[in-house]
Amino acid sequence: MPDIHETVLEIDLGALEHNYRFLRSRIKPSTKFMAVVKASGYGSDALAIANKLVSLGIDALAVAYASEGIALREGGIRCPILVLHPQVGNFDEIIAYEMEPSLYSARILKGFHQAARKAAQEGYPVHLKFNTGLNRLGFWETDVRFIKEEIDASGALKIKGILSHLGASEDLDEKEFTQRQIALFSKIVEEVERSLGPIPLKHLLNTSGILNYPEAQWDMVRSGIGVYGYGNDPRFDPELRPVVSLKTVISQLHRIEPGETVGYNRAYRADGHRTTATLPLGHADGIGRQYGQGKASVLVQGNQAPIIGNVCMDMLMIDVTGIDCKEGDEVILFGEGQSADQFASYAGTISYELLTGIATRVKRIYKDPNPL
Ligand SMILES: *Cc1c(COP(=O)(O)O)cnc(C)c1O
Repeated sequence: MPDIHETVLEIDLGALEHNYRFLRSRIKPSTKFMAVVKASGYGSDALAIANKLVSLGIDALAVAYASEGIALREGGIRCPILVLHPQVGNFDEIIAYEMEPSLYSARILKGFHQAARKAAQEGYPVHLKFNTGLNRLGFWETDVRFIKEEIDASGALKIKGILSHLGASEDLDEKEFTQRQIALFSKIVEEVERSLGPIPLKHLLNTSGILNYPEAQWDMVRSGIGVYGYGNDPRFDPELRPVVSLKTVISQLHRIEPGETVGYNRAYRADGHRTTATLPLGHADGIGRQYGQGKASVLVQGNQAPIIGNVCMDMLMIDVTGIDCKEGDEVILFGEGQSADQFASYAGTISYELLTGIATRVKRIYKDPNPL
């Protein structure tokens, strides 16, 4: 394990491999696996994650926006890349970089079709996204006729995939809702195939979908959070390993007298003799003020130490009273020893938000220096 002297986000590509193999083991060998590497690989390093996954035989990758896919192409990634939320201004780039758009409305379908014709494309692969209850993006069941008319107008586009997205796959109290989404997707698949012929890739499941509804895997699954080590349910904690750990060091120790205060607005007041440690990361690094005031704890020599007072922009203070530690010692916020799910829950949020919010000024390092 590398010795650290500053705040780092340590990326464990061995854990990524483990998670990928575990998730694959939950689906049929013939089902394709698309890994979601949007938002810098859930806040890690999309290109490093993508390279590792390609070496493991990943079938496809997904990003949210075109710029993310372009960065992967420029980094040498050649596998299919799905752009989940293409914008009108990106169509030419999507084609130039040979990415596959998820088309979700008449406006987007028509616009992309026009861009494909302008670029003299024939049979350009696209995916159609249907709304089955999330009410976020997607065509409705009743749009199938319009889609057929639009597509048939030229041979520029080929429907490679149909997808939808589950709204509550991690919540077993919402099983009925999820089953309705699955049933509706099934019906839409039938209608689209009846109207447009067989579609090679029908895909619905995200990570919690894979874990809770494997019967709905169709031809491909799309996993994000799972490959990074989180299954949205403690049942899966033993099977998954955190890919990223946010680590830092103690910059300075302070002995605090009873009645003294710590930090801005004097938000922490010592009720006795205390030892506090100042850490070199703050809300500008992605640890917001909602983690302060004693809500969250970090790990110092395996002990929980609460964040006290207000989190500053570049620093935060923790209470290390009674913990045997010194300046320069390592501190873990989340990852190894305390999951991102756990840390996020201190502030009433989820691993997704915590992970994707770690600022770019936090250095990314690799646990294994020669991962590939
Ligand atoms: C982000 C995203 C996923 C991945 O979801 P996880 O819960 O992280 O596995 C899959 N599909 C779509 C459409 C997404 O936006």
